[in-house]
Amino acid sequence: MSKKSKTPTFLLELPLQVDSQQANHLRAHFEAARCLYNALLGEAMKRLKHMRDDPRWQEARALPKTQKQERYAIFSQLRTEYGFSEYALHAYATDARTTWIADHIDSNTAQKLASRAYQAANRVCLGKAKKVRFKSRGRGVVKHGLDQRIKYVRLIRRRASSLQAQGADCEGYRYYAQLALEGIPYHKPKHHVGSETVGLDIGPSSIAIVPQQGEARLLPFCGELKTDKRKKRRIQRKLERQRRANNPQNYDSSGRVKKGRLRWHDSQGYKATRRRLASQERKLAAHRKSLHGRLVHEIVQSGNTIVTEKLSYKAWQKQFGKSVGLHAPGMFLAWLNRTVARTGGTLHEIPTRSTKLSQYCHGCGRYIKKPLSQRWHQCPCGIGPVQRDLYSAFLAAHLDPRSSVPSIAHDQWESAEMRLRAAVEDVKERANAGQDLPQSMGVPRAGARLPQSLEASHQELVYRHGRLEAVGR
Ligand SMILES: [Zn+2]
Repeated sequence: MSKKSKTPTFLLELPLQVDSQQANHLRAHFEAARCLYNALLGEAMKRLKHMRDDPRWQEARALPKTQKQERYAIFSQLRTEYGFSEYALHAYATDARTTWIADHIDSNTAQKLASRAYQAANRVCLGKAKKVRFKSRGRGVVKHGLDQRIKYVRLIRRRASSLQAQGADCEGYRYYAQLALEGIPYHKPKHHVGSETVGLDIGPSSIAIVPQQGEARLLPFCGELKTDKRKKRRIQRKLERQRRANNPQNYDSSGRVKKGRLRWHDSQGYKATRRRLASQERKLAAHRKSLHGRLVHEIVQSGNTIVTEKLSYKAWQKQFGKSVGLHAPGMFLAWLNRTVARTGGTLHEIPTRSTKLSQYCHGCGRYIKKPLSQRWHQCPCGIGPVQRDLYSAFLAAHLDPRSSVPSIAHDQWESAEMRLRAAVEDVKERANAGQDLPQSMGVPRAGARLPQSLEASHQELVYRHGRLEAVGR
């Protein structure tokens, strides 16, 4: 068995500049590696099947788990007999590496492929996986040699956005060298890590970050993705139109796709649109990733003990319907979790049902349900008005992860109130500067009549529609 390495690893990916001859060579290399891997995997699965068909295999399985040594002896005897081991597959790989494959794959790489094929099959053998996946054309990663500092280099092939894209070869592939390096990734000096407890409130379009002491912030959450998404929709519609135009025979009189097996004809234009769609999808994912990354660092700057309520997917769906996936809040939280873990911090996700921070008022300890449209918290007990998301994040920051009620001293609130106001003022400034901010922040957009102070805005709030409501346009 190959042993898992203990030292930390991080990846660095570098695009390769290749001329057409090198590209030809690389393509042949990938194709040879794919064929060899599939052959090895097929062989491993064949051996596994024969081994399992042997009656002794069933007998050994029927033995009680307490007879460990007997079971083990039979299993290992069978593995040797049927050649189901990493070692045996290495030997097979050496023989299988015939003529044309040998021109493209060195024996070291062949052995690596054999190890991977064996590990895949062995997972099935041990019941850890149901099936193995053969590599289809267009997939493929090849592992190369080993070293101390650079643990290994992978050669990666990705589809470029088009045949004309920079660095693409004649079939539209781009090549990258991925280095797995020992150690942890370089931490940019500007990414200073704080040590405070930070409360978070993540909404469909905004995120409130409130540390126990430091500066509070209310930021848009992936709002910039809107344009990307519109573009993607446009291309999707065009694709659908082209598909219809190319295949009128596949639609019935009311324009629905006919049932049964259909043959689809893909025109050149359709294929080009499909490529554009794929590249737009890639762009969107990359953009989202960079937005997520920026936010993660914004948060970690304040502190690395993070407290937040478990995301309410219901609230998300109310606003975005099926496209909750667009902002990928789960992915964002996973990233945040990894980052704080690396700096010795923790991310606490508290179930909403027990805390209900959006309903809670720390002044009187009552829980009062607010409609989603109500963006400000104001209580007859004298707390508020305060922006709702910021207030929730503030409560989260003072939540003891073991209990479900925040504990807040009087002077803590006084200092926090100032900081939360400053955060709202900052949002107003950005709105004035013309930044497009989500309406859910409860702050009027640029161009709208702006109240002079928060007090003025709250006057307006109270009397709207007979209930306390956010200043909307
Ligand atoms: Zn109250």
